[in-house]
Amino acid sequence: MQFDPGPRMNFVRRLWHRRRARRTRAPFPEAWFSTLREDVAHYALLDEDERARLRRCVAAFVSEKHWEGCGGLHIDDRIRVVIAAQACYLAMGLAHDAYRRLKSILVYPSAWVDPRGRKGFDGLDTSSPRLGEAWPHGPVILSWRDAQRAGRRIEHGRNVVFHEFAHHLDMSDAMHSTGSHDVLQRAYRTHVEQTRLGRTTLLDPYGATNEIEFFAVATECFFERPAHLRNDDPHLYEMLRRCYRQDPARREEAIDRTGT
Ligand SMILES: [Zn+2]
Repeated sequence: MQFDPGPRMNFVRRLWHRRRARRTRAPFPEAWFSTLREDVAHYALLDEDERARLRRCVAAFVSEKHWEGCGGLHIDDRIRVVIAAQACYLAMGLAHDAYRRLKSILVYPSAWVDPRGRKGFDGLDTSSPRLGEAWPHGPVILSWRDAQRAGRRIEHGRNVVFHEFAHHLDMSDAMHSTGSHDVLQRAYRTHVEQTRLGRTTLLDPYGATNEIEFFAVATECFFERPAHLRNDDPHLYEMLRRCYRQDPARREEAIDRTGT
């Protein structure tokens, strides 16, 4: 006889939705508004509907994840909101439970060296100071100093929070886009070649490490310098637009038109 998970699954799902709705209906704390305005530059790029959606996502993300300070860092709401807002910004076009597999966020005060001497998932050696890590079925780990810097500045093309959460979304299959692998492979090979020749590239040369890192590096550029990426490689831009179901270059153009 086949086990039918239907009724129980429906019950669990209904319970989850009810809890999520309760969290997102609660008033958004005034102090969190200030944090978004002062410490998350990307928040200003959104229209009113998108801002409301981001706030609902932040409220759920902050309360549903386990947050842990490492290396003596005391976790407070500012840290939670700055990191959650950037993670949610990335996933705004995806299903509302895109981060359901992520349980924990670990935060160090600044760059750290792995205390257990593990090799990073990206293959970096153990003595390299790390700004962020994302593990399959494991936590996302971040340097607070660099996460805060990423939140406050846009357009330099790098963002450690986007980078690590892009890894997480990539590993958890939260994004689907047919034909994306061919586009990614071609763009990766070109990037490796340009880097090998010592040419200046729009994408961080670190993207030449492997295809997984290339995707995370391209994500950073897609959200931080979208118009540049669209000019530089329209196919890669289009692939990322379909993956994330967002069009940040158009968002940028709309802001330029209205001057806000
Ligand atoms: Zn990486």
